[in-house]
Amino acid sequence: MAEWNQLNAKKEACRRVNSRRQNFTSLDVFHQRQKEEAQSAKYITQLVKWCDEHKYKVIFDPKYNDEIYQTRRLIKICSKPSLQSQLIGLIHECGHVILDESRDYWIKYERGWPKVRTKDKRLKKSAIHRIQLLEEEIEAWNKAEILAKELRIKINVKMFHQIKYYCLMHYVKFSARLSNMPY
Ligand SMILES: [Zn+2]
Repeated sequence: MAEWNQLNAKKEACRRVNSRRQNFTSLDVFHQRQKEEAQSAKYITQLVKWCDEHKYKVIFDPKYNDEIYQTRRLIKICSKPSLQSQLIGLIHECGHVILDESRDYWIKYERGWPKVRTKDKRLKKSAIHRIQLLEEEIEAWNKAEILAKELRIKINVKMFHQIKYYCLMHYVKFSARLSNMPY
């Protein structure tokens, strides 16, 4: 689902991962990144096909947030960051597809993402809504990791966890914003 500051999170994750590569000469760094970007492009194509098999269309645009629209069978991916970051964003959204296809999804997360566009202000401010969002986000990241292994997609593990933690922290902060939330 849409992560509020996902682009910043991705940029920060790339910066942190790349700053550990100080032993490379600049040309080595360039070639290494080129190789990783080419590999990520291949994996993105593989995932788009996977989404197609699961009846989801994937579209890319620099103006988008990474987001899934289950009822429209649509995934939007921000094409601004590196392909490595886009790959991580896309595989996370695939994690949501897997959850959506699970038999108990609409029961388990009944008051989470399925209700995110509701006009029910009381529900949106409730602890259960926010905790269910957080639970689903964590679960979608877990499913994404399993899917990467199943499809033999080599993700940059450090970058994956950096992005995951930045995105999850948004939901943790969002969940904790109101101290006296009704249940
Ligand atoms: Zn999500």
